[in-house]
Amino acid sequence: MRVLEKAPAKINLSLDVLKKRDDGFHEVKMIMTTIDLADRVELIDLPYNEIRIVSHNRFVPDDQRNLAYQAARLLKERYQVNRGVSISITKTIPVAAGLAGGSSDAAATLRGLNKLWNLGLTLDELATLGAEIGSDVSFCVYGGTALATGRGEIIHHIDPPPHCWVVLAKPTIGVSTADVYKNLNLQQLKHPNVEGMIEALHKNDYDQICTLMGNVLESVTLRMHPEVANIKDQMKRFGADAVLMSGSGPTVFGLVQYESRLPRVYNGLRGFCDQVFAVRMLGERNILD
Ligand code: ATP
Repeated sequence: MRVLEKAPAKINLSLDVLKKRDDGFHEVKMIMTTIDLADRVELIDLPYNEIRIVSHNRFVPDDQRNLAYQAARLLKERYQVNRGVSISITKTIPVAAGLAGGSSDAAATLRGLNKLWNLGLTLDELATLGAEIGSDVSFCVYGGTALATGRGEIIHHIDPPPHCWVVLAKPTIGVSTADVYKNLNLQQLKHPNVEGMIEALHKNDYDQICTLMGNVLESVTLRMHPEVANIKDQMKRFGADAVLMSGSGPTVFGLVQYESRLPRVYNGLRGFCDQVFAVRMLGERNILD
């Protein structure tokens, strides 16, 4: 038997950090939404009891460091599954980019193995398991649009953004999320209005969504990598309606409401960056059912 799962990327429309907790994690408040840029995860039964990762991307580990491997191991151990699986990951989402690619592969593996192994788990149960693998995995189990709190694993579903396009540009650098958090100065943050963003989404108010986009992690990544600020400037200059860094970066995304404007932003950025994508926003719930 084999199961195919789509593993879409996320962007953060709003990302705030409230404090550092005693357990070492940061308390966050962020709005995540799914975009139509996805890896493909194919799960195939193996005749022997092993987890095998197949990926032809040199930046993706093919052993227990892979988050998809960890997802399979967690399900096997928790539910005493004595079956092997080959997990084949076809990457489209850039690696270490602030787009939760690895987390989404892990979430797709949880959803897919739930089917392949007939475990009968609900999405809520899979999301709870996902939190043991990484803070972004819970959101990726559902997809859609959500307010994520706690260390990012507490998910409240909210209204999706209106239809629009998302242009993404990733400079060649990779950014370590842990490094960004380590260098964050909690005393000097310009906090985004997360509640206002939830309200703007509820009202389907595109202009207000553009106005309220904000990410406190920009304060660190833009200082460490000035090329990210440069890409933001270029994207604005080429006509994106609003521009922000996603997660800990370095990927920059721009929202574009009208398709007629898309080629100018996309082609303009291709002169600066090797990885540029133009995709649809995909924030509705149940897109992964
Ligand atoms: P986040 O936004 O959740 O912090 P990210 O998008 O910045 O994540 P990933 O693409 O998930 O970053 O990759 C971060 C690191 O995780 C990579 O450098 C890689 O070594 C490791 N990794 C583990 N599993 C995967 C996977 N399935 N795909 C990509 N990277 C993976």
